Amino acid sequence: MTFYLKYRPQTLDEITGQDVVKKALQSSFQDHKLSHAYLFAGPRGSGKTSTARILAKMVNCESQESRVKSQESRDYPCNKCSTCISITDGSNLDLIEIDAASNRGIEDIRSLREKIKLAPTSGKKKVYIIDEVHMLTTDAFNALLKTLEEPPGHALFVLATTEPGKIPSTILSRVQKLDFKMATIEQLLQVLEKISQKEKIDIDREALQILAKKAEGSFRDGVKLLDQLSSFKGKITVKSLKETLKATQFDDTKVFLQILAGRSAKDSLLHLSKQMEYGLDVKELLLSLMEVLRNLLLIKNELGDQLVKPNLTDDQYEELLKLADSFSHQDLVSDLDILQKALEQLKFAVITSLPLELAIVDICGPQEKIVKDEPKKTVEILNNSPDIAKLQEKWTFVLETIRPYNFSLEALLRSSSIFSCSDSEVVMEVPYSFHQRILEAPKNRDLLESVFSDVLGRQIRVTTILGNRPARKEDVANIEVAADDEIIRVASEIFNSDTVN
Ligand SMILES: [Zn+2]
Repeated sequence: MTFYLKYRPQTLDEITGQDVVKKALQSSFQDHKLSHAYLFAGPRGSGKTSTARILAKMVNCESQESRVKSQESRDYPCNKCSTCISITDGSNLDLIEIDAASNRGIEDIRSLREKIKLAPTSGKKKVYIIDEVHMLTTDAFNALLKTLEEPPGHALFVLATTEPGKIPSTILSRVQKLDFKMATIEQLLQVLEKISQKEKIDIDREALQILAKKAEGSFRDGVKLLDQLSSFKGKITVKSLKETLKATQFDDTKVFLQILAGRSAKDSLLHLSKQMEYGLDVKELLLSLMEVLRNLLLIKNELGDQLVKPNLTDDQYEELLKLADSFSHQDLVSDLDILQKALEQLKFAVITSLPLELAIVDICGPQEKIVKDEPKKTVEILNNSPDIAKLQEKWTFVLETIRPYNFSLEALLRSSSIFSCSDSEVVMEVPYSFHQRILEAPKNRDLLESVFSDVLGRQIRVTTILGNRPARKEDVANIEVAADDEIIRVASEIFNSDTVN
């Protein structure tokens, strides 16, 4: 069993930190005043779903009578009765966990509405935990709202989110919100120290401190890291820890770049989504992709021995030399540029993985891009109109004007070209049909039209055509397959929503 499951807190008392939340739940429970719906808000890995499951046990534990005698939370829930045990092992039928992030919940919420009227199977309450609830679609939120407006007495809802700001106010007004705090380094140390003692892991206190920092406030991440290190033979010192962390990261990044070098958006997006399931940090991945690509660029410029080799093991350096063959000099410059922009966009991302996903599509996409330093080339290929030259010349201005309003639109514009320009109309050539749908969404089109009108000093209408790029047919096919996938759906939903990106 993984450490994360093995050491998951099973009573409120076992939860480290979160005193305000624990106190609120404990006293409402003892006074029989639990709300029918809670919103647990707080950073990832702060204990929201663990607490939700403990709450599910509290309301359904079979030894309810004994809790009156014992006012101590450490004795309750009992974690011994069949209900408690079935909740721990995930087989309890009265606990329904929905992950809004994985399927956006429409079907789940629909079936929830149908089934909610049925009485609990064995316990007193049916408990619904909806994780990452901010990811629900508008439809799913509306369905959920109807359920929250008239909840049956036997239902208890726990909505969990890392982004309470994205929960509609209609939902907020129907739930009791409890705020979870990010774990402090001290609290993380306390948990990691306890587990390493129980598991007899020989680890320096300084090394534990590095782990605690690396977990960035997430108990889950900290415990997972310790789990990964537990197979390590001998004493874990600061030095061996740093080497292990670096080696694992190097290998993961290398594999990712090998896939990316194949320039298949489908393969790369699939690989990314698998990594995300393991709780991968997008920012960290971006940074390490950029670091390795930068090393490849140095190698291409014959600076490998001097600047790259000293920081790596001999094996790693050999691997990089091989990897360098898969990238042209031009690829490296353009890929680094795209990833750098994705990193900037990450701060404003509604969906954390989206900037990287768009960057991957961009990297794997057609080569004909409007690149700032070679605008003439694109103009000559497509059309010689002076208006196009003018737009081209002002292209940086166009992108920078659009960026604060909708950075993702800006990203898509970078993989589009100006096809033609007449007195009243600019035709944009886009590589993929989903680009076309996004650029033609009224909100995006309005924005683009107003910027183009500004540049050309007259009213401009924007239309799009799909580029004809026979050499890239298999890529287009890949993207069309991906178009049915989450990223495209999510992307188009964002562009059509009222949220400013
Ligand atoms: Zn029990």
